[in-house]
Amino acid sequence: MAKVLVIEDERDLQQVLTYNLRQAGYEALSAERGVEGLRLARAEAPDLVLLDLMLPDLAGTEVCRSLKEDAATRGIPVVMLTARGEEIDRVVGFELGADDYIVKPFSVRELLLRIQAILRRAATPSDRPPAEGAIEFGCLRIDREAHRVWVEEHEIELTALEFRLLVTLYERRNRVQTRSALLDDVWGIQADITTRTVDTHVKRLREKLEGARDYVETVRGVGYRFKGSPDEASV
Ligand code: CA
Repeated sequence: MAKVLVIEDERDLQQVLTYNLRQAGYEALSAERGVEGLRLARAEAPDLVLLDLMLPDLAGTEVCRSLKEDAATRGIPVVMLTARGEEIDRVVGFELGADDYIVKPFSVRELLLRIQAILRRAATPSDRPPAEGAIEFGCLRIDREAHRVWVEEHEIELTALEFRLLVTLYERRNRVQTRSALLDDVWGIQADITTRTVDTHVKRLREKLEGARDYVETVRGVGYRFKGSPDEASV
């Protein structure tokens, strides 16, 4: 049974969420404050965290940052719950490694579908088709099973979403991927996620890829393309 930690200080909403999660077959834990939420995340190793942006003690962005900085909790997908008009915070939330966000008021059904999609993507390697071993492309090395990436023998830290984005681009190398195709295939559910989100993530992924950043090219007005070979000249 997948375990979901809800960090939300509005008691009514927290109860609605935990109730519906349990009805849907999840184990639900809850915290009203960021500090308590972080403690539970470390102690209970949930499969997913639902994180409100406005908490009484710590901002949700701070909680997200702490989760992503700690090796013990880094791999846990985080879904941000935000109120309308928090556009900047949304982007910041993604840059901090949140895997998805949902705008309040939201339908519980939609939230459950998103949770389901994220947990499916984060499924353990044993649930996936066998990996084709490690990928080597120029100075880039990807271990699909272990979800680890190296650039020139130096390991880089990617969020679950960035890793999926990189692998998706790599698997379709030499072919242009439109932003909407990437939204479909990497994010899974289009809902209120915009194509700008794709740009934000590709930018962040490129920054992290350091010496391998040029393997991911922008095709102006269309989308992105992973090079066909490491030595290929840039377009
Ligand atoms: Ca709140």
